[in-house]
Amino acid sequence: MRKILYFLLIVFCIIGVSLVNNERVHAAAPSATIKITTKETEVFDETLQKKLITLSKATPVIVLSEADGWTEIQYKTVIGYIPSEYLKSASPQYMLVQAKEEPLVRVTNNLQSEIKGKLHLNTIVELYGSATADFVFVKYGKLAGFVNQQALVKPVSKAMIVKSSADLVVREIASSSSQEIGVLRKNSPVTMLTNLKGWAFVTTDKLSGYVLTNGLITPPVEKEKPVKPVTPKPATDKKIALTFDDGPHPKVTKQILKTLEKYDAKATFFVVGQEVKEHPEILKAVYNAGHEIGNHTFNHEKLTTLQPEDIKQQIQSTDAIIKSTIGQRATVFRPPYGSYDETITDQLNVPNVLWTIDTLDWKHRDSKKTVLAVKEGAKNGSIVLMHDIHQTTADALDEILATLQKQGYEFVTVSELLGK
Ligand code: ZN
Repeated sequence: MRKILYFLLIVFCIIGVSLVNNERVHAAAPSATIKITTKETEVFDETLQKKLITLSKATPVIVLSEADGWTEIQYKTVIGYIPSEYLKSASPQYMLVQAKEEPLVRVTNNLQSEIKGKLHLNTIVELYGSATADFVFVKYGKLAGFVNQQALVKPVSKAMIVKSSADLVVREIASSSSQEIGVLRKNSPVTMLTNLKGWAFVTTDKLSGYVLTNGLITPPVEKEKPVKPVTPKPATDKKIALTFDDGPHPKVTKQILKTLEKYDAKATFFVVGQEVKEHPEILKAVYNAGHEIGNHTFNHEKLTTLQPEDIKQQIQSTDAIIKSTIGQRATVFRPPYGSYDETITDQLNVPNVLWTIDTLDWKHRDSKKTVLAVKEGAKNGSIVLMHDIHQTTADALDEILATLQKQGYEFVTVSELLGK
């Protein structure tokens, strides 16, 4: 019994000493180290017996210490232990802080949670994990926590060169008292992501951090090549407007966006209000890709059969949901079934747009027939009617774009075609 007691005493002494040591390590820690879970992992308390929480794969955590195959981590307000083998270093995305006010860094992804600090505007922070959630996990020097994603934008990079007069010290944050993380040699090329108050954030393939801006110069302009006459791009007289009705659709519209992007083509999407309500993120993707958004009523009703009040409701509620989703109203209108009269057009603030080529894609649901209808009908100024709710239409698009592009067509929005 006494032996066991002595043994326990020794064990506690060791734990005590190691705790004190850890404390000291924390105090001196120059920087938060972030690691990412490699699989779904449980976090244990200090006895390594009790499970505190489960972290899903690819969760960023703050590393506090490491010993004997266990890593002490902090995730939000939880401090505990994870087997070190379930963690790996992560390469962050660099993001520029750009907001009206200095954004707050919080302990958890919750507006009510404790504030750890503020990010200075125009600094570059490291972003770990997904860049699309409302709150994202970032690190700036010792400061690590959750920040509103909207305060971050992708930085614009600029090529620079370290001055030939001296090597340049790279620091962790924009402060001369901050941790030194390396040195950039004279004349070495770097990529600059921000330049604020005398400090620039630079990256090379080996090193990233802050340097004094006055240690950098813009690269000398390359020797001018013999002057070649500039051939202006011939103004195309072959423009065509592809239009897609009845979406947004989570699968078909996405595929269409990809294909349009491949050919650098712009199109117009006449969306239905109730589908926008179901799939707002798809409408955002369409709009953000530079396509035009048209109003195609809320429930796809034949407007000529409705009372004036209901017509108004169909048009205005769709305008409202488009505006609340992308921040802008529809710039064109198309009545379902192409069916309209003066009562309807009187209600419109935007052009009422029909079509010149009807692919009948909704009827035959045959990619080959859709391709053929466009090929046969295409001429300068055509407006092509298709539907981004049928897989066969999405499948036809690649060939349509490839063929017409070869023939010299440019794919523009309806408003561009109409010169609005
Ligand atoms: Zn329709």
